[in-house]
Parts: sequence; structure tokens; C-alpha cells
Amino acid sequence: MAQAILSGFQGKPINVHKGLFINNQFVSATNNHTLDTTNPANAQRLTDVSAAQKEDVNWAVEASEAAFREWRPTPPQTRVRLLSKLADLIERDAVDLASLESIDAGILYGESLQFNVPQAVDTLRYFAGWADKGAGQSLHIPDGLAYTQHEPLGICAAIVPWNAPLMITIWKLAPAIATGNVLIIKTPELTPLYGQKLAALILEAGFPPGVINILCGEGKVAGQAISEHPKIRKVAFTGSTLVGRQILRAAAETNLKRVTLELGGKGPSIVFPDADLENALFWTALGITANNGQICAAGSRIYVHDSIYERFLEEFKVRMSKTAHGDPLLATTNKGPVASVGQHQKILGYVKKAKEAGSRLLCGGEDLDGNFVSNTAFADVNEDDVIMKEEIFGPIAAIAKFKTESEVITKANNSEYGLSAAIFTDNISRAHRVASAIETGQVTVNCWGNLHSNTPFGGMKQSGFGRDLGKEALDGWTNSKTVSIHLLPVANGECAKL
Ligand code: NAD
Repeated sequence: MAQAILSGFQGKPINVHKGLFINNQFVSATNNHTLDTTNPANAQRLTDVSAAQKEDVNWAVEASEAAFREWRPTPPQTRVRLLSKLADLIERDAVDLASLESIDAGILYGESLQFNVPQAVDTLRYFAGWADKGAGQSLHIPDGLAYTQHEPLGICAAIVPWNAPLMITIWKLAPAIATGNVLIIKTPELTPLYGQKLAALILEAGFPPGVINILCGEGKVAGQAISEHPKIRKVAFTGSTLVGRQILRAAAETNLKRVTLELGGKGPSIVFPDADLENALFWTALGITANNGQICAAGSRIYVHDSIYERFLEEFKVRMSKTAHGDPLLATTNKGPVASVGQHQKILGYVKKAKEAGSRLLCGGEDLDGNFVSNTAFADVNEDDVIMKEEIFGPIAAIAKFKTESEVITKANNSEYGLSAAIFTDNISRAHRVASAIETGQVTVNCWGNLHSNTPFGGMKQSGFGRDLGKEALDGWTNSKTVSIHLLPVANGECAKL
């Protein structure tokens, strides 16, 4: 199967296989279906990769089924070793992986190298640590004893988005494999290259054939075939709420496979008057500009106390305007393109709507060349305005003021999303009070986006359910079985006979 040679950081050549990765081999898709992938910074075609069809999903399931028979009884120490080895290989090839995320998804090379890739490595090491500690409970019952054991679900699948593809893939892969499952990964059609490289590292790490299969393919073809497959026992999904619903519906109508959903967000960042203003400005600006706002946990609604509102706006505007857009592989660039033409149009559509709604344009709002969007902020945005309600997935902040704590809690919770929130205050009681009152899966205090492999990450309300990361993620990949043992009483005189 052919390979492509791509040009990474400082022109470094990077080889990737073009085929689907099934049973530890790179193979063509049925009828040689392929899809093209393009560099969003310059619209140039990078290469094509195989695009999985329904038949290929079936093939991957057959390979997974055969692999699971051998994999399930494999000693947990083997899983520790293989996950740790994969972490080492990703660390070794960090430059290649960061380059591929950069040319394929428009992610800043430095951001991927310093955050996305190390996060993937940490996550593998963290879950490798759990692989041999999957203990259940021992319980007393009246006539004997009972214990629980946590068993793998079997054939599982991960369907992932394009915005931080390596990291999010590993968030699923690491706990799935640590708990003894076999996994089919459907990589995003917009950014498949990282997955092709990851497949080569999985092969090099020594995972047995069929334990991890990687298929690039279109959502409505390969993704749907996975969601409907009767032998797949779980789909772990990160992506849009719309597609999350479709996967849940497909699971309900087929084999009731387990589904966990990490969906969109519309995170509030709340700045109280006692906050360290410099710190709050730094994090609130980062919260909406990191990865061009293409982050589900972006702090896209910013509520600032009335008494510091105008000062905050002045300084926020200055921070938002310090950008150098261009090739995301270059160290001099601090703003890459958004991931696609479609994404560019969608974001600019929201800017137009905000202008039409009469929100005060604080900065940005311009249509830059190509797929670039300037950092944009609107002030005095009403609660019902579309940019305050809908996830834009771009660097567009909606800012409004508040007067009281209860008012801002009501506003923060005035959303169908519930993924993340940030609070800025020096008052410790207020920090805990507000954190407790906010309806989101995670709250950060005096910072934004604080992700660690040992802290659970996920949503509530229409941001989904289930957790990636942390010990809680393990529950999503196992069944609990209770074994009860009736202990027979000692027969008369039996002891004496011994
Ligand atoms: P998307 O929902 O369009 O696609 C995500 C994945 O689902 C892709 O691999 C795609 O091929 C697949 N897919 C599409 N249609 C499908 C179908 N009918 N059946 C099965 N699979 C299908 O999302 P996207 O545009 O790739 O990513 C952006 C969205 O993801 C945003 O809404 C964002 O908030 C969300 N997101 C959430 C998190 C989180 O952790 N909560 C993280 C990143 C992105």
C-alpha cells in the first residue's frame, strides 16, 4: 500500500501510509475509495488516504472479534507495557505528529508540540498505570461473600473530531485498551494524517493484530456503519451535538450499544470585581483564541462585573489584537487558519448576525484572506442574541456585564450546553459557591482549560455524558459483574476427621 511523503517543521520529510489500518496491515478501502486532505493555511492538497466503506467497517469488526479472543486473557502487565511503549514512540515522534496536526488541521505547531502531543503521552502513561489495577470490590453477604469484577465490553469504537485529533483519540484509546477492550478508531475525514502516523506507531509498539484498527472515512458512511454495527458494544464519540444525537439514535435502533458523548459547549467565563485583572484578561483572551476558538471548552461567553466592565473591555481589545497570522508551522505565527472553508464561512456568518443584531463590535470582525479569521469580540451582547446562545467554534467572544452573583449564575446557566466554565475571583467562598452552582462538567478558578490526564473531562445537559480522562473514564469501558458465593456450613465432625 502506497505512502505519502509530507513536509513538516523546517521541511522535515514525514512518511505516512495511505491505507486503512486493519489487522496490523495497511490496506485499500473497498473499491479503492479515497478522500483528499488539504492544508487549510494555503488550500493546497496534501495527499489522499483510503476512505472506509461499510464493508471495511465489517472487516475491521471481524479482525477485532478474532483479536478479542486472544486479547481478553492477555495478562494486564502486557497492556501496561504496550501502552507505555506507545507513549514513548509518540514522544519520540512528537515533531512529526505536531507537524501533521499543523499542516492538516491548521493547529499552531508550537501549540501541538507543547500541549496536544504531551497531553496524549501523559494520558497513555496515566491509563497504562491503571491497566493492572482493575480491581472490583469484595462484599459481605449473609450466607457467604460476593465480589465484583470489571470486565471489558469487547469490540468498541471511537469516533473523533478534527480540532485536537491526536489528543482526543488517545483520550479514548488509552482507557479502552487499559481495560482490555479492542478498539476501532474512526478518524476525522478533515484531518486524517495524524491517524495514519499513529497507526504506524501502534504497529511498531507491538500491539497484536486487530487490537487497534484505524479507519479514516466519512461520517455518514464509516461513522454511521460503526454506530449501527450489531457487534460493536460501545461508541465513544466527541463531536457535534447533532451527530451525537444520530449516534445515540442508531445505537437505540440496533443493539443498544453503550454510547458516551463529548459534545459542544458555550462556556461562560465570569470576572468578579475582586479578581486579579491581569490574570483574568490573560485567561479569558486565551480561552477564546486558543486553537482559534475551535475548542469545545472555549470560554465564548464572557461576563464581567459592571464596576470593571469598561476597563476590562479596553484591555481585552488590546490583547485580542496582538496577532500574526500565517503558516502555523512557523514559530513567528501565533494565529493559524481555521480548519476548513466551511468553518470559515460558518464563523463569518455569526459575525454578520452579531452586527445585524446591533452588538457593539469591540475588535476584529474582518474577513482575512484564505481561511483566517481575526480575533473578534462583541460587547453588550444580549442574553437572547444568537452569538450568546450558539456554539460558534471560532475566535468570537460575546461579552456582557452583570451586577450581582446570583444574576451571573442565572446567566451562566442560561444555556443548553454544560461543558465548562471559568471563574475569576480572589474570594475563596465565592469561588466555591459559584463553582457549585454552575451547571457544567468542569469549572476552573482563576484559569481556563486546565486539563490533566487524572482529572475527569466531560459534560452535562446537551454537552453530553460520560467522562474522558481520570479514573472515572474507566467506568465507561467496563461492565461490572457481581459474583456471589454461598459458603456451605462445616459438616458435623468434619474438622475432627481432618
Ligand atoms: P462532527 O460531529 O461533524 O464530526 C465528528 C466526527 O463524527 C467525525 O469523525 C465525523 O466523521 C463523524 N460523523 C459525522 N457524521 C456522522 C454520522 N452520521 N455518524 C457517525 N459519525 C459521524 O464534529 P466536528 O465538526 O468534527 O467537530 C466539531 C464539533 O465537535 C463541535 O461541535 C465541538 O464542540 C465538538 N467537540 C467537542 C469536544 C468535547 O470534548 N466535548 C471536543 C472537540 C470537539
